[in-house]
Amino acid sequence: MPGPVLLLGAPGVGKGTQAQILMSEFGIPQISTGDLLRDHRARHTDLGLLAEDLMAQGQLVPDGLVNKMVADRLGQPDAARGFILDGFPRTLPQATWLDTHLGQNASAKPVVAVSIQVDYDELLHRITGRRTCPVCRTIYNAFSNPPKATGICDLEGAQLIQRSDDSEEVFRERMKTFDLQTAPVVEHYRAQGRFQEVNGDQSVDQVTSAITSALRQLRSK
Ligand code: AMP
Repeated sequence: MPGPVLLLGAPGVGKGTQAQILMSEFGIPQISTGDLLRDHRARHTDLGLLAEDLMAQGQLVPDGLVNKMVADRLGQPDAARGFILDGFPRTLPQATWLDTHLGQNASAKPVVAVSIQVDYDELLHRITGRRTCPVCRTIYNAFSNPPKATGICDLEGAQLIQRSDDSEEVFRERMKTFDLQTAPVVEHYRAQGRFQEVNGDQSVDQVTSAITSALRQLRSK
């Protein structure tokens, strides 16, 4: 059932967690533009240096640069059967660019989009509790899904890290950016059909089942 899948939703709805699960279930890669940009930042590339301040302020990296980065990633062989895009598109110009880019590959399956919904207060709680393993990228939550030993990854034994933009202050900016620039992307895909919304305020397993059944329905259309 693979093909291109978009996971849409505000910061903290669980896109990354769900994308990691779907990736192992369907054998297609998770492509997170946030992870790709953090990787550029760690390698001090030109893009990483430019992205650093914008990310720290909860603002978006310019469309042209992000589109180019995504085009490079989608061109890699592991993305040929399909992929799960997490955190992209985040603006209408990115969405229309992606539609055109994918439309050029006539044999590919059409893109399907799933939007995950969670209330603002719950998101704030999730974002400020989020901790990530720098080695395997497993995502924990200090309040609701803690590792066995505080601050240590269950799988790798590595010290978990808190993203610098996961403070309450930057979260508020990221939500403003979401409402202004990314909410129209959700409406864009809703209007195209091949779109479903799922309730993200349930257990991780329940959200996964809801997404999987949404994808089955969307792929059988
Ligand atoms: P994320 O990990 O998806 O929450 O992204 C972290 C930050 O990376 C965002 O707050 C933006 O600054 C930047 N970013 C990630 N994806 C995009 C995108 N598609 N367009 C522009 N900026 C992005």
